[in-house]
Amino acid sequence: MKKCLPLLAAFFFSNAVVAQESQAFHATMDGKSAIELQKLFPSEVEILKTTDNQSAVFLTEKAAQHLHKNILTHGPGYVYQQDAETALDVLSKKTDNNQKLLNLTITENDWVNHSISKVNAENIKNHIMTLQAYGTRRHDNPKGKQAALDLKTKWENMITASGRTDISVSIFNHNATPMPSVILKINGATTPNQSVIIGGHLDSISFSGQAPGADDNASGIASITEMLRVLLDINFKPQRTIEIMAYSAEEVGLVGSKDIAQKYASENKDVLAYVQFDMTNYKGSAKDVYLTTDSYNSNDLNLFLVELMEHYNKTGAHTFTYGNTICNYGCSDHFSWAQKGYNAAFPFEASFDDSNPYIHSSQDLISVSGSTATHAAKFAKLGLEFLIEAAKSSQAYMAVQTTKTNDFKVVVDKKILKLINFKTDITSIKIIDASGKIVKEVVNPKSDFISLEHLKEAYYLCVIEDNNGKISTTKFINQ
Ligand SMILES: [Zn+2]
Repeated sequence: MKKCLPLLAAFFFSNAVVAQESQAFHATMDGKSAIELQKLFPSEVEILKTTDNQSAVFLTEKAAQHLHKNILTHGPGYVYQQDAETALDVLSKKTDNNQKLLNLTITENDWVNHSISKVNAENIKNHIMTLQAYGTRRHDNPKGKQAALDLKTKWENMITASGRTDISVSIFNHNATPMPSVILKINGATTPNQSVIIGGHLDSISFSGQAPGADDNASGIASITEMLRVLLDINFKPQRTIEIMAYSAEEVGLVGSKDIAQKYASENKDVLAYVQFDMTNYKGSAKDVYLTTDSYNSNDLNLFLVELMEHYNKTGAHTFTYGNTICNYGCSDHFSWAQKGYNAAFPFEASFDDSNPYIHSSQDLISVSGSTATHAAKFAKLGLEFLIEAAKSSQAYMAVQTTKTNDFKVVVDKKILKLINFKTDITSIKIIDASGKIVKEVVNPKSDFISLEHLKEAYYLCVIEDNNGKISTTKFINQ
């Protein structure tokens, strides 16, 4: 309860209005949550300014903890800012516009199918248990730093064993916490300056006793590590650079990811897309993967994840289902990337209302969330699908491409969808929006036209299935 970021001591009692027994710091947060929190803690929350439902605040550790614990179900709900000026600056700045139109395609069938067949839940389980055994990975506990250094060593050992020389691991140090973040890079063979990134936070927190953090977020770290293991196992060499990140201090305001995203943006780094893995192993809902559809997330990227799951996970040995959910302001590290204008997405373990209730407590243990890690394995598969298709292979798959992808071409003009190569063996045509919702479905279509008059102008996915169960997907703009 009394702990706080070490550097916050410098700002301790720096504002007379909020000076109370507990330490205080600046942050940005959702405007409505700020008002709600101020009602509960009138003398411990000062709202400096609100713009477009985002507030710059000065608040005590106690109030921040209440927000994290009681108002929101998952992430901290605020983003730590080093001083008032920086907090106000976040409000005045329009989101940096690095967002590009995503033109991602599905072409790497053989590599992806090979990779997802290699995912082993047992590895994920063992890694979660290793991370849980630290007892705590709190950013300001020596064990947090140790966990980061150990993860770096683990990743380095995997690279050494693979014999690869195009991969490196580095430590990213932060001012606000003694715990570093860890960044792994697989250099792109063709366009090394463009990156696709996945990540998750390594730190844990508890509001009661130990902080084993098995689900939040040993599960995400174990999932991304399994993705790395498989990429090395199949000797996948990307065209674009792949980066894998384990962040420090997410639980106290996205400290690690914010520093990194800020540095990348200030250096004008070309990040095509970012996908967050934070809590992957508790199956709390009927469906498997829940895409978060908060306004700061990228619709285009969500749509691409939908397309991947429609293509690779609809039938067969790697089948799983998906839905959508809302995760709120600053709920996890992808928010840091979105704030800098990058395309970000966050597929989550359950609908937020049904997510793991034992996180942030001494009971966040693998025995509670899922001892076999089979739920997390689905996220490892989705992550591999994303990495391989977004980064693209620089090598031919065993010299021969065996699977042909899209048989159908779709043209949309004046809100009418026309299918080129229409055949009568098509059993269904589905139109899916960026939240994964089916907005139109035609069973056994008799004509090659579908009217989309009632749908707004946006990106959609068209999923076509024939009577052999073969699925083709294609994205389009309804205009
Ligand atoms: Zn988390």
